[in-house]
Amino acid sequence: MLRISELKLPLNHPEPALRDAILARLGIASDELLDFTVFKRSYDARKKSAIVLIYAIDVEVRNEAAVLARLKQDAAVFPSPDTSYKFATTAKPAPGTPRPIVVGMGPCGMFVALILAQMGLNPLVLERGKIVRERTVDTFGFWRKRKLNTESNVQFGEGGAGTFSDGKLYSQIKDPKHYGRKVLTEFVKAGAPEEILYVSKPHIGTFRLVKMVEQIRAEIIALGGEIRFETRVDDIYVSEENGVRQVQGVRLSNGEEIATRHLVMAIGHSARDTFELLYERGVYIEAKPFSIGFRVEHPQSLIDVCRFGPNAGNKLLGAADYKIVHHASNGRSVYSFCMCPGGTVVAASSEEGRVVTNGMSQYSRAERNANSAIVVGITPEDYPGHPLAGIAFQRELESRAYVLGGSNYDAPGQLMGDFVKGVASREFGSVVPSFKPAVHLTDLAPSLPDYAIVALREAFVAFDKQIKGYYKHDAVLTGVETRTSSPIRIKRNDDDLQSLNTRGLFPAGEGAGYAGGIMSAAVDGIRVAEAVALSLVA
Ligand code: FAD
Repeated sequence: MLRISELKLPLNHPEPALRDAILARLGIASDELLDFTVFKRSYDARKKSAIVLIYAIDVEVRNEAAVLARLKQDAAVFPSPDTSYKFATTAKPAPGTPRPIVVGMGPCGMFVALILAQMGLNPLVLERGKIVRERTVDTFGFWRKRKLNTESNVQFGEGGAGTFSDGKLYSQIKDPKHYGRKVLTEFVKAGAPEEILYVSKPHIGTFRLVKMVEQIRAEIIALGGEIRFETRVDDIYVSEENGVRQVQGVRLSNGEEIATRHLVMAIGHSARDTFELLYERGVYIEAKPFSIGFRVEHPQSLIDVCRFGPNAGNKLLGAADYKIVHHASNGRSVYSFCMCPGGTVVAASSEEGRVVTNGMSQYSRAERNANSAIVVGITPEDYPGHPLAGIAFQRELESRAYVLGGSNYDAPGQLMGDFVKGVASREFGSVVPSFKPAVHLTDLAPSLPDYAIVALREAFVAFDKQIKGYYKHDAVLTGVETRTSSPIRIKRNDDDLQSLNTRGLFPAGEGAGYAGGIMSAAVDGIRVAEAVALSLVA
């Protein structure tokens, strides 16, 4: 099989034009082209009136060696790389070895468990939240009735934090072993649309994710894994063996104790109680940078026209996204994060008396607003003194937002123009906010530290140069966005992926500080599953 990269065609090209372009590029006759598939499709929208589709195509041709030899100067034609997934080992652990335990059934824990199950290593998954259907009822219940279930919400439950999301599946991580391809392939097997395998910015949307999570759960169980929901890990047992700290087991919320020497902690960035537990049990943890800010809503049509000009609304392009950065004069970086085209802003609290925002969408991305977090980068120098100080800092900001919103889980909000001028907002304009239960208009300045407010004010005005119309008086800001990534890192060794000071403990995914987003968390899950498997059979 050959790969042709950088094959460019106009946005609205007729279907047969692709085949013709392949023949022309390879300089072969029609009967020499046996088959072809699109490996990747992206677009170049720099010239809005002449948007170009860019394909990478896998082709089967007669006499492949001769074609390759003839085109050996052409760097965009080469043998297709093998991206299929290969298990790290086929060996089995010694009889009597306690089975591995995976804590958390988010994208990371789900892929640790799936790979271990596919290897025949019978993982036990422990998830504090409920199965995804019941969790959906609790989460929507919170949005509609302001009744928060602290164990079943946007952050906790089957599918993890990414379940009620935009389902963006792209990431900028280095992936030399093509683990991302394995993740996408498993998602398609579980019911995701096939196009996620080839579009450059795949996304799934909330409702499809729910079905896929159920399918993956069924596969893990069919392969011999076990999953217990509404089962929180409340303690871990560690003891010294020959001067080395070694995990021995866990205690569950129902009091049960289970022995294991391989414990994956894929607990996400919101398991603050579990972070505290690990710290108390002496697991090495350090503070890490994260970001704070607001969700911002604009009309989606404004973003579409700015990005795609006369091609706004084209089906292949879909609702436009954006990525913007501004380096403020006080030294802070302000940037867009987790942009959700045609989506809604959601209440993402997991603790009582705290308000935190995030974004989600459906597959169609057809809602009228574009939303994105606009956040300011902060570092442990902003919350010094203790490895867990970032958690206290997040809690403080989320509590302020709760009070500013009216102490009933409404989120505090402000019009962009008023925020920049420093006056409280009283009335919405043309942008109707999507956050539920509701947005309470106020002055957002007291919700974040002054340096963040100053940097955000400057950035909103500056962003207008990057997206014309972005500085819009009645665009709506909703606060606060604090859970952009984990405030801690549970440091691990680079080679065996075990905790720096506790053998048998595998910190994994976003909560441990090793991923940010669904795809990178799932890819980290594959890496950790391989490390666990190699350790189990060693
Ligand atoms: P999580 O998904 O957080 O999973 C951790 C799991 O561990 C949870 O289910 C939790 O209940 C469980 N757990 C925690 N503590 C314990 C314990 N003590 N015992 C048992 N179980 C425990 N990313 C994207 O790439 N694209 C998006 O479009 C996107 N949109 C998002 C929208 C929203 C509303 C949110 C909240 C996040 C979004 N993200 C998105 C981020 C993405 O969801 C996370 O990066 C990803 O889920 C991290 O995966 P994880 O498996 O490491 O952790």
